[in-house]
Parts: sequence; structure tokens; C-alpha cells
Amino acid sequence: MPILVMKFGGTSVATLDRIRRAAKRVGVEVAKGYDVIVIVSAMSGKTNELVGWVGETSPLYDAREYDAVVSSGENVTAGLMALTLQEMDVPARSWQGWQVPVQTTSAHSAARIEDIPPQNINAKFAEGMKVAVVAGFQGVSPEGRITTLGRGGSDTTAVAFAAAFEAERCDIYTDVDGVYTTDPRVSAKARKLDKIAFEEMLELASLGAKVLQTRSVELAMRYKVKLRVLSSFEEQSDDAGTLVCDEEEIMESNVVAGVAFSRDEAKMTLVSVADRPGIAAAIFGALSDGGVNVDMIVQNISEEGRTDMTWSCPVDQVARAEKAMAEAKADGTINFHDLIADKDVAKVSVVGIGMRSHTGVAAKMFDVLSNEGINIQVITTSEIKISVLINRKYMELAVQALHDAFELDKAA
Ligand code: ASP
Ligand code: MG
Repeated sequence: MPILVMKFGGTSVATLDRIRRAAKRVGVEVAKGYDVIVIVSAMSGKTNELVGWVGETSPLYDAREYDAVVSSGENVTAGLMALTLQEMDVPARSWQGWQVPVQTTSAHSAARIEDIPPQNINAKFAEGMKVAVVAGFQGVSPEGRITTLGRGGSDTTAVAFAAAFEAERCDIYTDVDGVYTTDPRVSAKARKLDKIAFEEMLELASLGAKVLQTRSVELAMRYKVKLRVLSSFEEQSDDAGTLVCDEEEIMESNVVAGVAFSRDEAKMTLVSVADRPGIAAAIFGALSDGGVNVDMIVQNISEEGRTDMTWSCPVDQVARAEKAMAEAKADGTINFHDLIADKDVAKVSVVGIGMRSHTGVAAKMFDVLSNEGINIQVITTSEIKISVLINRKYMELAVQALHDAFELDKAA
């Protein structure tokens, strides 16, 4: 039998009614002849509640017990989904991560999946089971302890199962009906994409489009798992939602696929550091040790052997960065005059694989921003992305203007 993976996110299993609705969709696919692996998240809000309980009980908690607690939300939905399917006369059973087993590293709360041996589940399919309901987000470490994969990890569970079982497709049911050219709350002209290439989705996911966990897209790209994002709240046809796929499967696409943004950025500048070999390693090593996720980096031209180093990072990590730099200054690793933090910036990016073969995208982007009177503070580019840092109060305006200028409301 062909295998289909169907993943239901927290809002899609938030109540018993919604679990029934999701189970009906599973029933439709079983009726088409699929063996189905259903991956479930915890009911929406549940994981946050569990995380809160852990913090309240033990501020400096043991990460192994954190995982034991926060993984439990998925166990509840897996059992309830299996029961609901059984009530519909669909042969189903639930599996917790360790039962499959989903073998992960020991990095508690941020474990990576190492292997998913398919034998146990396949044996049950061979006996007539039609649906394996698997608790997402969790696995088991080599030490035999329960692990979790990081917030949003059920997406990664779903893709990993699709790869391990060579599923025909991995359908991610969520509360939006697909991937949009930009956030519809920011531009009313945002358009749902029928297809998007893995690499574009990867950029959009890591730039803050919250539909899929970034790691799940990386995994899908590596194993060429066809991913479909669709809504569990609408009646679905076979081509509903957005297909995330290999670029070869996309015949025509716009040069720019989407405009992404991330609101809560900060820009930090280390003023007057010695320009010598090893200085960047010292600065960014200290930031990384201090738990700061640096994004963009700019080094100025130096004058008389000294230069300025600018980077961006999430705004809530500014204090950490300040601490790391103060410590590095105190112990003599880095010498600088000042550290300036601008907490009022946002990042806006245009993404599209078409940029590989089309010139002028950057020039057009800068032109659009200049026509709106928006000053660009930092620019970074990759093969398929251009990002700028601007004052946060212009973020919506920039997104709308770019969406208009690149005509993203129209299909290619
Ligand atoms: N329940 C977990 C979370 O809220 C995992 C997931 O839903 O993907 O992060
Ligand atoms: Mg999610």
C-alpha cells in the first residue's frame, strides 16, 4: 500500500470536535487506499502550559525531566486520535516516540532524529492496521530517556517519517490554507502560492514565516519529501494548499516568490575595535558562547588600524550580547570604545530562486525603498535572497511596497 503522512498541528486537534474532524480527513485518505501515518501535536496551548509548569517547579530544571513533562501533550492527542479513528471503524493504534522507536540524540529539548526503523509499524500495517498515530515532537535518546525536538518539532517528526517510510507525500494540516507571498495581515494583496521550491520555503521559514519548522524543510529538501501545507478547517480538494517541492517541478514562477520580514531585530555596533587577524573570531566566538544568534554582519573599512563591527540579532538577546562583550573587554580578549544597540529595527527580505538567473532584483528593491523614503541600514544577500535592515516603524510600508512592485499578487 502507498503510505501517506498526515500531520495535524495544535489548532487542528484543539478540541475533541476538531480531532473528529481531523480523523474524518484521515478516513478519506484510508478509503482511497493509503496506509496512513498520522503525526499529532499537543492540543493548542498545552505545550506552553507544560513548559510553564516545569519553570514554576524548578527554575534551573533538569532538561531530561523537562522533556518527560513537555512531551506528554502529544501522548494525549495520539491516544485520543486513535480512539476517534477506532470509533469510526478505522483500524488504528497510537505510538509514542520510544515505541516506534524514534531514535534521537541526547540533546534534551533540542534533540535531532537519528533514525526511525520502520519495522514495528510496518509489521502492524501488514496485520491490517490502517493508521499509525504517532505522537510528534518526541523521541528516545541512546540512554533510553525521552527527548523532544524543539518547539514546532512535530513538523520535523512528520517529514522524518515521510522519509523513513518513503511516503508518497507529507501533508501538514494547520490553521492557514497554505504558504503566502507575504503575511496577509501585513499586505491585503498577499496571494497563496500553489507551489514553492524547498529552498525558497527554507529561506521564508528561517526568515520568520511561521508555517513550518525550519528543520522540517531542511529535512524535506535533503530527502526530497513532497510536502503539502493545507488547512484542516476547509473542505479539501486534491490540489488544495501549497506544495513545497523540488524546483524542477515548478514550471513557471515569479523571480521573487515572497517577501518575508522579522519585526523584533536589533542592530549592535562595536565601535573602534583593533582590525587584526582573529578579531572577528574573538567577537563572534564570544557572542556565540553567550548564546546570541547573530544574523547579519558588517565590518567597516578600517582607519588607522581600527574598525567598527556591526551585527544584527533578535532584540531579546541584546542584554546577553552586552554581557558577552563586557566580559570579553574585561578579560582583555577584545578592546573597543563603545557598544551601541539600536532596538528599533526590522528585517525585510525578498526571496526567490529566480534571482539566480535574473539581474536587477536588488536594484529594484533599493529603488522601491528609496521611493518610500525608507533608509537602508544594513544589507545582506545570498543567491536567492536580499535582506535589509530598516527602522521598524517602516516595516509594514516596506513589505507592502515591495509586494506591489514585484507584482506578487499576480501568478507568473
Ligand atoms: N507541541 C509542540 C510545540 O508546541 C510541538 C509541535 O506542536 O510541533 O512546540
Ligand atoms: Mg507548528
